[in-house]
Amino acid sequence: MAKIVRKNYLLTPGPAPVPTEILLAGAQETIHHRTPQYLEIQKKALEGLKYLFQTENRVFTLLSSGTGAMEAAVANIMSPGDEAIVVVGGKFGERWRDICKAYGVVVHEIAIEWGAAVTPEQIKEKLEEYPNTKAVFTTLSETSTGVVTDVEAISKILEGTNVLHVTDAISGLLAQPLKMDEWKLDVVVAGSQKGLMMPPGLAFIALSERALEVVRASTNHRYYFDLRAYDKSYPDSPYTPGINLVYQLARAVEMLYEEGIENVWERHRLLADATRAGVKALGLELFAKRPGNVLTAVKIPEGIDGKKLVGYMRNEWGVTIAGGQAHLKGKIMRIAHLGWMSPFDTITALSALEMALDKFGYKVELGAGVKAAEEVFRREDI
Ligand SMILES: *Cc1c(COP(=O)(O)O)cnc(C)c1O
Repeated sequence: MAKIVRKNYLLTPGPAPVPTEILLAGAQETIHHRTPQYLEIQKKALEGLKYLFQTENRVFTLLSSGTGAMEAAVANIMSPGDEAIVVVGGKFGERWRDICKAYGVVVHEIAIEWGAAVTPEQIKEKLEEYPNTKAVFTTLSETSTGVVTDVEAISKILEGTNVLHVTDAISGLLAQPLKMDEWKLDVVVAGSQKGLMMPPGLAFIALSERALEVVRASTNHRYYFDLRAYDKSYPDSPYTPGINLVYQLARAVEMLYEEGIENVWERHRLLADATRAGVKALGLELFAKRPGNVLTAVKIPEGIDGKKLVGYMRNEWGVTIAGGQAHLKGKIMRIAHLGWMSPFDTITALSALEMALDKFGYKVELGAGVKAAEEVFRREDI
């Protein structure tokens, strides 16, 4: 067997690849965060975030992974004994539920089979059953299953009520169309290591005016994630910000602004379409019933150990895709098309996949997946 050069290809739904330009933006001298020079950079980054969230409201930046922003959402708008409807169709819906429970929130769970999507009717029914509900928690892109939620339709159900719509867009932001203001989303959370093309370390939370009112009135215990402090010091930070990460954020928002948000959404849609065409051409089945543009979840064919397959691609060839989580370990694989990726990342993923399947004894025509993806790219005249 010939030895091949070890080169890494990151094709996971977080962390996602980071372009050199953004890496280098972080490699600038760390200056003091209470200087006008620094504040100017932070202001630019914060303004850019409004565009990415499609909101006129403030987007707060927290120094944590995405889960910190989820916790901030719960801690700031929910108090012990408050009622929440939580959509649980995967690992991240479970996280909403668990954070709510940790804060003493009374959770009315809508349990969705993993791989399926919640319908607006299910939200409507649950709301009729529990009219004292204060907030509905959804996940734009459920990263553990690849399912995208129709958050716009869910907001329509909530129109005319005081129920807040809180959505986890940590993986979905930029990969999926999201218009916070137009769709009347009250709280949207995101993280830096996904569609934003950054390393992990920053989390973002945007709130509607009425959500901010709830935050101000809330008496719940909180400190580091007390959004009143972030609101008060905005656009400055209440504590030491992630200075070098904010340099990267400023560069990332600039790149995304130059590209244009519609183009960013479109580029994710294109890679998602090509990936799906590729895996289907290999005779594989999609796992998600309502697949989104963050990742493609694919069922592992009968008789193949999914963990070994994914491990082989990573260890032997440096091609890292994600396996399944929780009870889906070994049963699905997740190929991301998130963030800094081009059609040739998708080609690499499909090529490695068909070669690995071949090694593992699955009957595959080498090149069939790649060909199907290339045909999508040709049809769309890239
Ligand atoms: C990645 C992810 C998270 C968790 O983010 P961390 O940065 O690991 O805390 C939460 N929700 C979704 C949908 C994600 O994809």
